[in-house]
Amino acid sequence: MILPVVKYGNPVLRQKGARIEAITPEIKQLIADMFETMEAADGVGLAAQQIGRAVQLTVIDVSPVDEKERPSTLELEGKPADVKAFMPLVLINPEVKPVNAPVNGGEGCLSFPEIYAEISRPESVEVTALNAKGERIQFRCGGLLAKAVQHEVDHLNGILFIDRMDQKTKAELKPELDFLQAETKAELLAQAKKK
Ligand code: ZN
Repeated sequence: MILPVVKYGNPVLRQKGARIEAITPEIKQLIADMFETMEAADGVGLAAQQIGRAVQLTVIDVSPVDEKERPSTLELEGKPADVKAFMPLVLINPEVKPVNAPVNGGEGCLSFPEIYAEISRPESVEVTALNAKGERIQFRCGGLLAKAVQHEVDHLNGILFIDRMDQKTKAELKPELDFLQAETKAELLAQAKKK
């Protein structure tokens, strides 16, 4: 089922996700719904907060992206591995460690329609998480995949890409951000009144 994507201004985006202790049928359904929602929105990643659930779960798929334009790298057990064969990814209770210096790159977010900015993040990261079966996985990634993983794991901790923007960029985007936030709050208020 395609779920509505929560927009900036909704407080759930600021909530830290609770750890997932068991892969219940409900979590399995949530994973399926999140993939469907991400694909429908043409996203490369979606965090549970973005569909209104504050839990440590994100789905990622960089395979629809042109590899020449926005390349990704992957290492499994210290050896280069095929990125596409590793997709799609489900990360539960993920932990991310940077392995090198930050680089700038363009980013967008499904919770911030039409807003794009240059964000500085480590080029490569080491990731440990549980997969959809509850098995522990570990990998190192770079390029777009590393960016997507860091962006989504930030969501799971209530951190948004606007928090990673430099002051000048954030100041330039302020009118759009204020507008989006006000629009979301007005929608939430209208929904609450209906109930
Ligand atoms: Zn996002």
